[in-house]
Order: sequence, then C-alpha cells, then structure tokens
Amino acid sequence: MRLLLLAAPGGGKGTQGERLASHFGVQHISSGDVLRAAARADTPAGREVASYQKSGDLVPDQIVLALLIPVVVGAAERGGYILDGFPRTVPQAIQAFDVARQLDVTLDATVYLYVPEPVLMERLLARARADDSAEVIWHRLQVFTETTSPLIDYYRDRGILVEVDGNQAPESITAEVISRLSGR
Ligand code: AMP
Repeated sequence: MRLLLLAAPGGGKGTQGERLASHFGVQHISSGDVLRAAARADTPAGREVASYQKSGDLVPDQIVLALLIPVVVGAAERGGYILDGFPRTVPQAIQAFDVARQLDVTLDATVYLYVPEPVLMERLLARARADDSAEVIWHRLQVFTETTSPLIDYYRDRGILVEVDGNQAPESITAEVISRLSGR
C-alpha cells in the first residue's frame, strides 16, 4: 500500500497516518516530523528548516525533496508507506512522481480529508505545538489554500483521488478510508 494523506493543518493527517500505517503494516512518514528532526541539528541547514517551520511557511522544495525522497524510496522497498504532509506543493508532486515512476512505486491513492475551517482552528488551538499560535495557524491555513490545495485537482486529474469527510470520529474516518480503498 502506497498512500498519500492530504489535509489542511489540523485535518487529521497525523492521527490517520498512524492508524492506517498500523492497519496496512507499512511505514508512516510524516514530513513535518522528518523536517523537525532535521531542524534539531545545530547546522546552517537545520537552522534554515527551523526558521521556516517556526513562521508556518513551507520549507523550500529542494530541501524537502532531498530529505524526503530517500525515506520514501526506502519505505517503498519495504512494502509501502502512508505519506503525511509530502508532497505539499505541485512541483514537489511532479518531482516525486518522476522518481516514483522510474522505480515503479507510484501512489495507489491520495486521500483528501476535508474539514471545515472553524473545526481546524479549534483542533490546532487545542494542540499547543510550537508552531500552533493563533497567528501562525492562520498563516498555515492560508499557505494550505494557496499552495497545497491545488494538489487536490492534480491528483483528481491523475484519477487517484479519494475524498473523505474528516470531521468524524477518528475510528469512523479510518474505517471509511479502508472501505473506500478496498472498493477501488
Ligand atoms: P506538519 O507537521 O505537516 O503540520 O508540518 C509542519 C511544518 O513543516 C509546515 O508548516 C512546514 O513548515 C513544514 N513542512 C512539512 N512538510 C512539508 C513539505 N512537504 N514541504 C514544505 N514544508 C513542509
């Protein structure tokens, strides 16, 4: 199983990523976690990643691709992955698709979890991560709308998009994703 979870910040990618990875027995890859680990290194590159994350801006595509592609390829060799947060821009998706096509490990499906904005706000404010202040949250939601949401059409055009109501109990969302994927 090779799956991408697409959702706005607070949309449940992390929770569903863990649940689906354990269901399918594959690796859960959170790009936010991979980048937060890179940001902990006290190096110029680490400090650069940290400053983007702190402000809620996206880390530049070339840095993200260099860090994430090896992790994704490794997981694909071991049977698959649930991707949470990568690709997050159309150029990232195009470059990742290029690599995956050469290795014959392209995505089986992209699941878009849609959640109303007030619910996203409420969840993010309750979470209290370092980049979850009200101001940074607004900015991240805006970045999602402008830069990440075009991926919804990109994957719909590729014929692999599955849209699921993300405003349900976590168990219901997981069950719906699994049943929708088995019906494909
Ligand atoms: P997340 O944990 O998915 O909410 O991501 C937290 C932060 O990590 C984002 O606000 C971005 O700064 C950065 N980030 C995570 N994934 C990506 C990505 N694919 N491209 C660029 N930046 C990313």
